[in-house]
Amino acid sequence: MTTPITPLIAGNWKMNGTNASLAEVRRLSELLTATPPRCTVVICPPATLLAPLNAIAAPSGIVIGGQDCHPMPSGAYTGDVSAQMLADAGAQYVIVGHSERRARYGETDDLVRGKAVAAMTAGLTPIICVGETEAERRDGKAEEVVTRQLANSVPEQIGQLGIVIAYEPVWAIGTGLTPTSDDIGQMHGTIRRLLTERYGEAGARSRILYGGSMKPANAREILDIENVNGGLVGGASLLANDFHAIISAV
Ligand code: PEP
Repeated sequence: MTTPITPLIAGNWKMNGTNASLAEVRRLSELLTATPPRCTVVICPPATLLAPLNAIAAPSGIVIGGQDCHPMPSGAYTGDVSAQMLADAGAQYVIVGHSERRARYGETDDLVRGKAVAAMTAGLTPIICVGETEAERRDGKAEEVVTRQLANSVPEQIGQLGIVIAYEPVWAIGTGLTPTSDDIGQMHGTIRRLLTERYGEAGARSRILYGGSMKPANAREILDIENVNGGLVGGASLLANDFHAIISAV
């Protein structure tokens, strides 16, 4: 019998949060200590909050992740943060290839793959984001785009433990819109098939998250879809009660 995949709920705080926001993490820790989650819980705060957030969150089992990393371990890259630095601050995960970085900073699949390799070299699990734009979905190209992003953004070797893929339709991020359950199921099924064909057991065991306007009101329905192994949550991860409601939907 194969062991079931442990779901993962990751919060992406984006460029939000100061020391005052740690009060929300204290509240979430209390809620999770009272009722332990049935999934791995990750918070990806701005780099400035990694260490203090980890100190508050770790006792309740919450783990921390970065929102991005540079492909090099160190060097003359002013303003960047390496995967080693994230690991040094206590991170276990790092998001790479988020659509905001692909669109606004021109990140290519090759660069995203380099970041994912750097993450694994530093002992982090990369959360590799893929997803189509509204125009690509309208033109019937969603599967083609995601297939290409997966082929080129995911490293050749993903190790025994596999990686995490986040399917995030760009048009669903921060808009309150979500695909239908059928559309999510179809895309996650395609991603699972592609990962399994390419990586065998490690691909079959890799977690595939859904991201894009996941909220307390729709989390249960989305998390029930086959091959949805958790969520990448933006806005709703900033408030302890909302994030806790999503975690509790697992
Ligand atoms: C995200 O930024 O990855 C995201 C899914 O955002 P939101 O949940 O706010 O749509």
